Amino acid sequence: MVQRARTPKPFASPVPTFSATAVMDVDDPSPPRIRRLEESVVNRIAAGEVIQRPSSAVKELVENSLDAGASTVSVTVKDGGLKLIQVSDDGHGIQFEDLPILCERHTTSKLSAYEDLQTITSMGFRGEALASMTYVGHVTVTTITEGQLHGYRVSYKDGVMENEPKPCAAVKGTQVMVENLFYNMVARRKTLQNSNDDYPKIVDFICRFAVHHINVNFSCRKHGANRADVHSASTSSRLDAIRNVYGASVVRDLMEIEVSDDNAADAVFKMDGYISNANYVAKKITMILFINDRLVDCTALKRAIEFVYSATLPQASKPFVYMSINLPPKHVDVNIHPTKKEVSLLNQECIIEIIKNAIEEKLRNSNTTRIFQTQAVNSTTLTQANTQKEKGTEVKMTSGVKSQKTPVSQMVRTDPRNPSGRLHSYWHGQSSKLEKKSDLVSIRNVVRSRRNPKDAGDLSSRHELLMEIDSHCHPGLLDVVKNCTYVGLADEVFALIQHSTRLYLVNVVNVSKELMYQQVLCRFGNFNAIQLSEPAPLQELLMMALKDDELMDDENDEEKLEIAEVNSEILKENAEMINEYFSIHVDKDGNLTRLPVVLDQYTPDMDRLPEFVLTMGNDVTWDDEKECFRTAAAAIGNFYALHPPILPNPSGSGIQLYKKNKDCMESGEPVDNTDEDEIDQELLAEAETAWSQREWTIQHILFPSMRLFLKPPTSMATDGTFVQVASLEKLYKIFERC
Ligand code: ADP
Ligand code: MG
Repeated sequence: MVQRARTPKPFASPVPTFSATAVMDVDDPSPPRIRRLEESVVNRIAAGEVIQRPSSAVKELVENSLDAGASTVSVTVKDGGLKLIQVSDDGHGIQFEDLPILCERHTTSKLSAYEDLQTITSMGFRGEALASMTYVGHVTVTTITEGQLHGYRVSYKDGVMENEPKPCAAVKGTQVMVENLFYNMVARRKTLQNSNDDYPKIVDFICRFAVHHINVNFSCRKHGANRADVHSASTSSRLDAIRNVYGASVVRDLMEIEVSDDNAADAVFKMDGYISNANYVAKKITMILFINDRLVDCTALKRAIEFVYSATLPQASKPFVYMSINLPPKHVDVNIHPTKKEVSLLNQECIIEIIKNAIEEKLRNSNTTRIFQTQAVNSTTLTQANTQKEKGTEVKMTSGVKSQKTPVSQMVRTDPRNPSGRLHSYWHGQSSKLEKKSDLVSIRNVVRSRRNPKDAGDLSSRHELLMEIDSHCHPGLLDVVKNCTYVGLADEVFALIQHSTRLYLVNVVNVSKELMYQQVLCRFGNFNAIQLSEPAPLQELLMMALKDDELMDDENDEEKLEIAEVNSEILKENAEMINEYFSIHVDKDGNLTRLPVVLDQYTPDMDRLPEFVLTMGNDVTWDDEKECFRTAAAAIGNFYALHPPILPNPSGSGIQLYKKNKDCMESGEPVDNTDEDEIDQELLAEAETAWSQREWTIQHILFPSMRLFLKPPTSMATDGTFVQVASLEKLYKIFERC
């Protein structure tokens, strides 16, 4: 840091020195002079960087204790650490001869040559922490080494001893006391006094250390308090340590996770830890990360984990994560941050990707486990139902389902402008609704899949289709998808995204269709379910689709009825298979009752259900396994894709379409007055919701999921799905010419 000096000018008016421009004298063209800072100023500035707040002093002191091989570390804090921080340990202590230079800058017992940094395993190495504390606070050290009859106590100021070490009684180890932190940094002290005190942060640090260093006893208390706020006894089990600190309720929802890679080409590392499952709900993420036993932050990894959770378990999107990553010391640069808060890893992106995928897989399985629990409730409901039946009370097995049948045509939109016909009324939330249902078939399926969970996953044709996705993936587009920024919707079909210096238009319908297709194959046999609130008769759905189909205009109703019958028979015949693999459930009476969750938090546009059923009946190849999976996944992909809503877009002139007076609209004459009375407000509101909901979904569900899961096929580079519309370099060239 350099302080600028001004050459004094006899008539210059006094210039305030708080802004960079103010020190430059406008009349004097010569640059300001450079001066050497006094050492005490340099030291204090450097100290302020290393010890940013009381909690950073505590972290340094605890790390010193751990480096000294302590098995007990006790922390006492007064006034959030501003008045007093005291850390006592039972480590190896400090030799009498080293006490004079203990608190000088860059004195350390842990490093001698720069190359040692490559293999360093201790937490400290710079010899800066204690020194820094003496520049911004009063430090007193009491220590005794093995075999000594007494210990020594000595105080330090500005890096040097204030007095000769005094012999004193001492218990094994070292105690460092820091008093009046930042007494000589008025602004820092003020902001810290004003801001919430640092004690919670200190407690948080100790909790994290306690979870990782399970063989060390930690305690942390406020000065004068009888009870410690953290008290962890050494244990041999990580879960016990977490329970000790974070409570049994957290441990209940944790799953163990492990992943490693020893391929030198991408990454050499090992990760193990615990992550929360779908039942863990918290307001914010808890991420405890140790890399080679160092407590560090890694924003990129944290973000990736948050992404996976919000895409896979939106309701449990703020997870608890404890993770310990180990990699060869020479692959970690520990010297990139003044407080060693961050480290840099060789092949960081690759490591993050592997961890992200491992978490995603774990969560998927945990999601399935959740269904199993849900189904366990079903069996109780079923038993209850049976018992009551035995008692002679008539109980509907499908509780919550109205017994009276409503004709589908009254619920499905047959005319886009007719608000009474909509299938949304079928949709009743995701698997939660299952709890209230009892259904023998689903229980049987779950029992079967529980007994044989790998059956579905092992099908070779499904495997081949997944391999095809991988082999057709376009690496350039993959990079665009993974690292793009969503800008906004350009029109009803295209979204604008930015990737490095380029802008692209992306066909939302195409990419969402492909994403859904790929997701169907990934989740194959493992879907959560969307329960229709009322069973929808296939026959009626098919008739509606056929009536809508322009190609069928020439056919008479009787022929349409025949086609509907054939298709509904086909679906009934294959019901067991489509239920097991795709979670599309058709009951024995030919009603559709359940659909799969292809992307969490997303339900398809139910107005397209009739068309989907017709496609399933008509376009799926049933006699060849691989083709069957491909065509069925494509049909589902098409249904779940983010097509523009069937209701016309009401924005701009689209509002004309919502006029009550049909004739006026159909005559095609331009109508200028859009009198409020003439607008069908209910339908308009519905259309507005549909369109804005779609836009929200595209931004918050489709694009985040695409970043995580989509493997764009090569064809998308040329078929107009991704179109590059501008590049910054070219724009510069154009502007240069202007
Ligand atoms: P660093 O940890 O980077 O070496 P510090 O300023 O934190 O630098 O500590 C300087 C030295 O003081 C350490 O290298 C270590 O030898 C000694 N030391 C500090 N704290 C303790 C402790 N609690 N027990 C034993 N030795 C300690
Ligand atoms: Mg240290």
